[in-house]
Amino acid sequence: MCDQNEDKPFSDGVSRRSFLGVGSAALATVAISGLTANAQLHEDIAKAENDHSLSDPGPENKLLFGLNPHTNTPPPTDHGDIGPIWFSFDLARKRVEEGGWTHQVTQRELGTSKDIAGVNMRLTAGSFRELHWHTADEWAFIEYGSARITVMNPDGTMFIDDVSEGDLWFFPAGFPHSIQGLGPDGCQFLLVFDEGGFSEDGTFLLSEFVAHVPPEILKKNSHLSSADIAKLPKEHLYIFPSKLPRSLAADRAAIGGSRVASAQQYTFRMGSMKPQVQSDGGEVRIVDSTNFPVSTSIAAALVKIKPGGMRELHWHPNASEWQFWITGKGRMTIVMPEGRARTMDFNANDVGFVPAVAGHYIENTGDTDLIFLEMFKSSHFVDFSLNNWIRRMPPEMATAHLNLDESGLKKIPSEKQPIIAG
Ligand code: MN
Ligand code: MN
Repeated sequence: MCDQNEDKPFSDGVSRRSFLGVGSAALATVAISGLTANAQLHEDIAKAENDHSLSDPGPENKLLFGLNPHTNTPPPTDHGDIGPIWFSFDLARKRVEEGGWTHQVTQRELGTSKDIAGVNMRLTAGSFRELHWHTADEWAFIEYGSARITVMNPDGTMFIDDVSEGDLWFFPAGFPHSIQGLGPDGCQFLLVFDEGGFSEDGTFLLSEFVAHVPPEILKKNSHLSSADIAKLPKEHLYIFPSKLPRSLAADRAAIGGSRVASAQQYTFRMGSMKPQVQSDGGEVRIVDSTNFPVSTSIAAALVKIKPGGMRELHWHPNASEWQFWITGKGRMTIVMPEGRARTMDFNANDVGFVPAVAGHYIENTGDTDLIFLEMFKSSHFVDFSLNNWIRRMPPEMATAHLNLDESGLKKIPSEKQPIIAG
């Protein structure tokens, strides 16, 4: 039966015929050299089009254009609209207080991300993020420096620990907690919440609790005198400077030592753990409830891709993916039903989003290591490898779908390779 769609436009403004020609040339170029792929891709498209369609004589934000070549000149395989997949903390409003600052990328900034919101926060040495709790579970990754954290269990046992670069914490919804920057220069960290609409400005604060209860109730509840109550804060503290704490051992001892110590571990050393995946192309460290039992709602992978390497074509069956790009640069294409596809570039401090179960890859397009976090609202990290799937089909089935003969099929790696070397 003849394909009724053969002569219809295949992607925006590009016929199926020219797509096949340009696509194969562009893909071969990418395979040969990831480093020059962008420039080559532009050249290939320009040559193949050989018309005026890609000219852009109007105004241009040259800095943004330079950071996002695939947005401004999408590969011919891109088609249609899949909604926003990019935002950057560097565009998010910064709330600066004495002692540090915070800014966030939530569903308000990146409307497609319904399951996860992210916050980036800085605390100088000694400064507190005020004692608080909130409706969402909180997962954190320390980007810089070190911090002391506390979290209390409902049974009154207390967890106190110090964390530094590469470490995580997890605080369940409603559990009261604190964060304090340590010496010599405090800390900076990423917070990830399992609610897209979460707002860091909307947390339950200790100061507001005591400020908004009638004083006679505070007296009755806490046996405080009127003079004591007069000293309590009248306004929120949120982020504020303070003295550095005593040693971890001294703080633990001061509250009652092992008698009141939490049986649950709320921190994890992700940066220094042995990677589950190690190949010529890079490394992957996975932390979810299998190795960090308290993290029941957030699963994470810390991915390092060497120059030219790529995170293989894959998808996740259980959740959308929220990414935080830590260092280096790369590009990602997401493929959705009805032939929709979008390619964008990502740089350090950017947030990427992949709709649930959508196919995607990430390629390191820079000349340094690319490091980013893949985050999921799930108890487990799970992915499917396209290569693995094709090689697990009976060969005739794969040939019927892909037109590849046996020798072609055998070139495809048969096992999952999360990172493929360039
Ligand atoms: Mn919190
Ligand atoms: Mn992924």
